[in-house]
Amino acid sequence: MKGKAAVFTEIGKPLEIREYPLPEVEPDAMLVQVTLANICGSDLHFLKGHGPGVKGGIPQILGHEMVGKVYKLGKNFTTDSLGRPLQEGDRIAYAYFVPCGTCWACLSGTAACPNRYRYWLGVSCEEPPYFRGAFAQYYYLRSGQWVFKIPDELPDDVVSPINCALSEVIYGLHKIGIVLGDTVVIQGAGGLGLYATAVAREMGAGQVIVMDKLPARLELAKAFGADLTINVAEVGAEERRQMVLERTEGRGADVVAEFVGSPQVVEEGIEMLRYGGRYLLIGNINLGLKGEIDPAQLVRATRTVMGIIVYEPWVIARALQFLQRTQHKYPFSRIISHKFPLEEINEALEFARQGKSIRTSLLPHSS
Ligand SMILES: [Zn+2]
Ligand SMILES: [Zn+2]
Repeated sequence: MKGKAAVFTEIGKPLEIREYPLPEVEPDAMLVQVTLANICGSDLHFLKGHGPGVKGGIPQILGHEMVGKVYKLGKNFTTDSLGRPLQEGDRIAYAYFVPCGTCWACLSGTAACPNRYRYWLGVSCEEPPYFRGAFAQYYYLRSGQWVFKIPDELPDDVVSPINCALSEVIYGLHKIGIVLGDTVVIQGAGGLGLYATAVAREMGAGQVIVMDKLPARLELAKAFGADLTINVAEVGAEERRQMVLERTEGRGADVVAEFVGSPQVVEEGIEMLRYGGRYLLIGNINLGLKGEIDPAQLVRATRTVMGIIVYEPWVIARALQFLQRTQHKYPFSRIISHKFPLEEINEALEFARQGKSIRTSLLPHSS
């Protein structure tokens, strides 16, 4: 038996479809049949060589936001992370990273393990177990990756962004802290910004203000619970700040959350905060892209800045419950807006780059 994968070989070259044998499954691991894999913004950065360990010359399988079914269980892999029995064919959501457990961050109980991608990024997919990333028909899941059964009523379209976009948003908003009645400003209404709008709402935000430059995304932000949307292509920076001040009796926002991925928005985000306000950075994942801030804007107003990537073991479990409670309240299925077969991954990546979709997805088994 073999499975297909889209392999990254060189920066700037199209991905190649290759076939690999299905690997032996170790006792503590499992092989997953990937049913839907999404193109996340960070994949587009990785393809330009910006990812940690992603270099030309090492064939790699990128992609990390996905959902799948248990295909083959190792003999010791009998339950999900909540102790519920697992069987072949069960639909599962799972973390795409593996904390090492032996670094300073892991020992301190923080979700910041620097070794979390050690089996994936920078590791050749020509070596067994081959299937290390989402852009493939199968995925090799190791012990130490949290796994949760997916309730039947949640379709793949609704669940597939859970292990990256939705869980990062839930964890980030938890860490920055949403207090009942907070005014939350969301910078960027892509997949993460839309989730953040709904999650902030459900966490008790008093009002949610969403900024983006694409009218279609702002329209969707309203359906996800935004009270006010601001088109940054039409409204200037000073006017935007004034709009936030007007809506907060002149104080500024309690929380601003960045999902844009550009250092240029950071200074504006900080200056929209009230005294004592909190700024959450999630979108700016690219190393080496610098922006300017006025540090006194933090010091003199005792404002907090926090960066978040990945999350803790509980987050996917609560994200699934969140989707069960709210899947008919918010239009989650509109986040997965376009699907391509795995063989058309290069077209799919180009489509995603053009920003025409919220999330572009791949169907690994469609042909
Ligand atoms: Zn991602
Ligand atoms: Zn670690």
